[in-house]
Amino acid sequence: MNVLKFGGSSVATAQTIQQVLQIVANQSKNDSLFVVVSALGGVTDLLLKAGAQAAANNNEYKETLSEIEKRHLDTVRELIPVTEQSSVISTVKSKLNDLEALCEGAFLLSELSPKTSSVIASFGELLSSYIISEAAKAKKMDLILQDSRDYITTVEAEKVTLNYEVTNNKILAFAKNNSSKIVLFPGFVARTESGEPTTLGRGGSDFTAAILAAAVQAKDLLIWTDVSGMFTANPRVVKQAKPVSHISYQEAMELSHFGAKVIYPPTIQPVLEKNIPIYIKNTFAPDDFGTLITREVAERKQAVTGISHIENISVITLEGGGMVGIPGFSKRLFETLYAAKINVVLITQASSEHSICLAIDSADADKAKTVIDASFEFEISKGKVHPTKTENDVAILALVGDNMVEHQGLSGKMFSTLGKNNVNIRAIAQGASEKNISIVIAKKDIDKALNSLHEQFFEVKTKQLNLFITGVGNVGSKLIEQLQQQADYLKENLRLKIRVVALSNSRKMIFNPEGLDLTNWKESLENGEQASPDAFFKQTKAMNLRNSIFVDNTATEKIAAVYKNYLANSIGVVTCNKIACADAYINYHELQTLSREYSAPFLYETNVGAGLPIIDTLNNLIASGDRVRKIQAVLSGSLNFVFNYYKKGVSFFDIVKQAQEQGYTEPDPKIDLSGVDVARKILILARESGQVMELSDIENNPFLPQESLATANVPDFFESLKTNEAHFTEILEAATSKDCRLKYVAQYEEGKASVGLQHIPSDHPFYNLEGSDNIVLFYTDRYPEQPLIVKGAGAGADVTASGIFADIIRIGKQ
Ligand code: ADP
Ligand code: ASP
Ligand code: MG
Repeated sequence: MNVLKFGGSSVATAQTIQQVLQIVANQSKNDSLFVVVSALGGVTDLLLKAGAQAAANNNEYKETLSEIEKRHLDTVRELIPVTEQSSVISTVKSKLNDLEALCEGAFLLSELSPKTSSVIASFGELLSSYIISEAAKAKKMDLILQDSRDYITTVEAEKVTLNYEVTNNKILAFAKNNSSKIVLFPGFVARTESGEPTTLGRGGSDFTAAILAAAVQAKDLLIWTDVSGMFTANPRVVKQAKPVSHISYQEAMELSHFGAKVIYPPTIQPVLEKNIPIYIKNTFAPDDFGTLITREVAERKQAVTGISHIENISVITLEGGGMVGIPGFSKRLFETLYAAKINVVLITQASSEHSICLAIDSADADKAKTVIDASFEFEISKGKVHPTKTENDVAILALVGDNMVEHQGLSGKMFSTLGKNNVNIRAIAQGASEKNISIVIAKKDIDKALNSLHEQFFEVKTKQLNLFITGVGNVGSKLIEQLQQQADYLKENLRLKIRVVALSNSRKMIFNPEGLDLTNWKESLENGEQASPDAFFKQTKAMNLRNSIFVDNTATEKIAAVYKNYLANSIGVVTCNKIACADAYINYHELQTLSREYSAPFLYETNVGAGLPIIDTLNNLIASGDRVRKIQAVLSGSLNFVFNYYKKGVSFFDIVKQAQEQGYTEPDPKIDLSGVDVARKILILARESGQVMELSDIENNPFLPQESLATANVPDFFESLKTNEAHFTEILEAATSKDCRLKYVAQYEEGKASVGLQHIPSDHPFYNLEGSDNIVLFYTDRYPEQPLIVKGAGAGADVTASGIFADIIRIGKQ
């Protein structure tokens, strides 16, 4: 004998019921069967809604009833052959009339007793089982329908405590005399010992099936639903979730208690005692293996088996100094809740006994506050405890696994993953069995928390990064190109899945939490919404995605000004824009502090020397205990390009124009030529060396004529270069006459820094610096005479983009 249960989604329509009957027919070839069915998907909700509307004197209950009627009659008409339809339709209509009469009563009295509500809810299963039995008979299946209420007996109404003795005896007596191959039962419905109709609670059809299976000692219990088993997390929320092929009763119980509703928690109890295997199977993919649940599971490597969650939770906190050390406080609290029929999902108590924190269903929150405050009225009036505090909009998330007990550091991993993603934990409970760690978090964080934990515990092999990119000019477009090009490589070799979820230029912005399609990004961006740094930040924050990184490819002050918002929300920042790090020291310092405080990476390698590993090298020197004595560097790829190509017979204007066109200068080349850009870079290196320094502390010896320095815009600046050609020729000749080359050199030594054009003789390491190359000489305690040298291409969109890329990867590897 096998017991099969089909949930509401499996019997939602005539079409899916056909599939169910096919499965039943196949299974009955080998075994006799008890089959349990739920109400047609969604019907229980509609029934409860109709009851509540009627009791609230709301006429709309009639519309809800019509919807219920239509669902059932449509199903009959599609499912049952025309010749046999009329008697089935008239029975269904007569049952629906009874239902209507009950609702009418509730409407007239403006009242709905728990008993009437139960009776109304039970129509779902009574109707579905009747219709399905008629369809089976029309197919000449050897099937009879039995009313579960005649067998399943609870101790009292509304409390799902079963009288197993009576129940089992009744079932066994029936089974003994039964000769039909298949017996169909409505799930969910039951009667009390005294004969009152009741139900087994939401999701209770699973329980019906388990009770039957245990009573007849079935070979297997098969729960047929709309997913291929118990997943590592709810597959509707976590796309990467996978079915777990084999789990223990205990694990299934913990997972379902915390929201994995594929099985209803009490379901396990009767079959657990009888050691009957449970299979979770998919009605719509019957060949999938699904999940097998048994008492024990052979060797499994993974510590965590699944992550489940429940939404619509409220947290009630009872606290006060008067609770400490006094026995019986918790007893009174729980008795109060028990008397009010409020189910407690999770409890935590600080070891000081100063407060008790309870998680309950939000629907019970108001009632819980009222009854607890009433029960502790005396203590509250004496100031020994405070009135209870209620927090709504929270959720519970639980990490479950039999093997967790043997693995150290799991909770640490869990909390650091959540911390990195800015998920605040309100309360923690770890069962003494250590098979479960549950936490309470804000409901809005649930998707992010589930996905990041799932990634941490089940997908260690791939990590998803979500990029919010602003600035799609030279550097930004190159970055997008490189990201597209490298996507497969990163996935395969570094197990990194990098998605661009937002793009913005100064006018428009676009978002897609699933990842933007980058093939036509330019066009999509043109059709985007109006952009602003603030709106971009707000949407980034609202999307609340794990491993979010804000990437700034601009040179804009307005954007640098919002970094702190990102960091303070645990969103990493990667930038080639040096304005933030070269701003007032206090701001630079604040960003570093925020980055540390919120575990949000802040990386800006491209601020100095584009893609060259200059800042990283410096940080490594300092971290390993070295001390910087002196830095000498040619840090402007643009100036180097300009002075390398500025020769006799070429105009200075042309060279600068060319440098700008090739992306070697800042959008405004004056920033390079005035030395400001280089000054910012040496400032950043000084700060990274540990020096507290401002831009104004740097000695800047400009080579531009006063007229060029005074220009107000880019075209005027270029014009001034043209008119001052003689000034530049003079500078050039002064150098060449001494066999020297012109290099724009930045220097830092013992707290002082300067930038300026220098005559470099042929024996100097800077002399042969080519094209737009940069070079940095680090003189440190460990490299006192022979400096540590970093040299290479230090400007250009391509190398800058690859430097940003490297910073992103650095975050991915953390
Ligand atoms: P039925 O109608 O068959 O009783 P339910 O809706 O009660 O089905 O339960 C199945 C649903 O449970 C799935 O569609 C899925 O959304 C949800 N669910 C939640 N957590 C899990 C999990 N860990 N594994 C599988 N399904 C889950
Ligand atoms: N129909 C009931 C419900 O929706 C019982 C069940 O489907 O298990 O809760
Ligand atoms: Mg269910």
